[in-house]
Amino acid sequence: MNERTQYEIDETRRRLFERDLWRCRYPGCLENCTELAHRIGQGKMMVKHIQRLLRYDFGELWDAETVRRLIIHNDKNMASSCRKHNSYFDISNCEEAVRVLLAEIYQEVIEDENKRPFESIGETQKRGRPRTRPTITTNKR
Ligand SMILES: [Zn+2]
Repeated sequence: MNERTQYEIDETRRRLFERDLWRCRYPGCLENCTELAHRIGQGKMMVKHIQRLLRYDFGELWDAETVRRLIIHNDKNMASSCRKHNSYFDISNCEEAVRVLLAEIYQEVIEDENKRPFESIGETQKRGRPRTRPTITTNKR
């Protein structure tokens, strides 16, 4: 129901293609970009994994839709690509890289009042836990 409209998708493509100067972001590739590659993949399992990381690393309870909207479809999670290099950008299998990028995107989201998903953290707030700004660390555990 909260699916992104085709217009939004087209608008995002155009904006990011412009950001990346209409070129594939693969180092040394001079092809025009034809698609947007996700760094953190958009599969169901990955969304679940991100929900888990948000909970353990930041004490956040976000629903899957919010994770998709704010993390997976975040500009920082996308790179312009030619057809050949799309999978090069995928970092889903590198746990450390995923955590670093997630921390970066999360930081940006909580600093932007317009993006902050207050309604989606209901459970945390209902329990009356004080909301303190989490410290972002990217250290290995
Ligand atoms: Zn390329």
